[in-house]
Amino acid sequence: MSTIVSKFGGSSVADAAQIRKVAQIITADPMRRLVVVSAPGKRSSADEKITDTLIACHALAAAGKDFRTRFAVIRERYSGLATELGIGSDLVPVLDEVEESIATGASRDAVVSRGEYLGAHMIARFLGFQFLDAAELIRFSDETTIDKDATDRSCRERIDPAGRYVIPGFYGAHGDGRIQLFTRGGSDISGALVARAVGAARYENWTDVSGLLSADPRIVESPGPIREVSYHELRELAYLGANVFHDEAVAPVAEADIPINIRNTNEPDHPGTMILARDRLSERRPGERTGVAGKEGFSGVVIQRSMINKIMNLTGQIESVLLEAGVRMHHCAQGADSVLVVAESGALDTAGAPLLDSLKGRFGASTVKRTGPYALVGAAGEELAVNPRVLGTVMMELAKKKLAVHFVCSGYSESSFIVAVDEDKYREAVRAIYAATA
Ligand code: ASP
Repeated sequence: MSTIVSKFGGSSVADAAQIRKVAQIITADPMRRLVVVSAPGKRSSADEKITDTLIACHALAAAGKDFRTRFAVIRERYSGLATELGIGSDLVPVLDEVEESIATGASRDAVVSRGEYLGAHMIARFLGFQFLDAAELIRFSDETTIDKDATDRSCRERIDPAGRYVIPGFYGAHGDGRIQLFTRGGSDISGALVARAVGAARYENWTDVSGLLSADPRIVESPGPIREVSYHELRELAYLGANVFHDEAVAPVAEADIPINIRNTNEPDHPGTMILARDRLSERRPGERTGVAGKEGFSGVVIQRSMINKIMNLTGQIESVLLEAGVRMHHCAQGADSVLVVAESGALDTAGAPLLDSLKGRFGASTVKRTGPYALVGAAGEELAVNPRVLGTVMMELAKKKLAVHFVCSGYSESSFIVAVDEDKYREAVRAIYAATA
């Protein structure tokens, strides 16, 4: 029996009006039998996400302080929703259980996961679906690794193909039952794992935008919509800085060749964006740009030493010095007498002068200095970067706008490139690259 897995993000379940839209979407297609939900998000910019309130509750409880006043906000929010949705006091015992677990020292992951847990209970009751706990479905083998086989097995065992379920996103459990969270925004991964396990016909990701746009609309005026994108392009775009869909959620569905459809709960008739295997894309010219994205907050470290290129395993050695100081290397470009490493400015600030001294000592460098700050901006599209004209046009456009390029990274993939520009020129560079790749 064909199934669609429909995942709803925090804005889609933030208030009763949104949850009613969810119900309409679910009832509009009988194949939508597996629903995965995030915890209620913000209703306005002044509001707090339930997940953040739970993080605060856990921190207060762990410090031996009063967490109940803060928890009252959560209780009020869910009780208010339950009343508006007409499911009465069904949630009260679940809220009591959660409050008690915080009081008795539940782990941070267990506490923070309760936003999704409570939300899934509530939406299951409202839809008349069965609640199915993610702790029984999604298995971790350690803090960061999902046991895909065990997850597939438990999903197949517990999910009746004819059943209708609401599953909380954002967490799973270890073999001993300990709750384990994904990183923030991780409900996307939960939905992808469930979709893969049941061999879903489609994985729908319902959010508050009508699919992906080819650039950030706060920077580029009216960027074109992306109707279709390959799994690979999506990962490249996420790597460049676009953040609509969690990048770790792509692999589980891509491996099973399940299309992902990004949709808007507030505009349910809009087709959104389809994410497909490359050979399933329609109407696409190779070399066409799919999107432009970027990120601020990077800096360089330049290590100068005569004939540094002769040092064996140079990059590995630099990386280990950086990692000891808590810095992750994002890029590394090597010349005869110098190396440029690009990393996050915040991590470099924290590591400070001792890191520069260690690098100097380790390689006998004449100078080790910080450069930047930079923004990294790039474009993605299948075969975009193998078209020699593309990078040339981009460089000319950046030069015309007097935007200095400090570093270019291309050739690591056929389908994207990245340039480092001065951080304060970030927005201008996004616009220039968008225009040059049109
Ligand atoms: N509620 C979690 C967060 O705020 C997970 C999610 O929404 O996917 O990050």
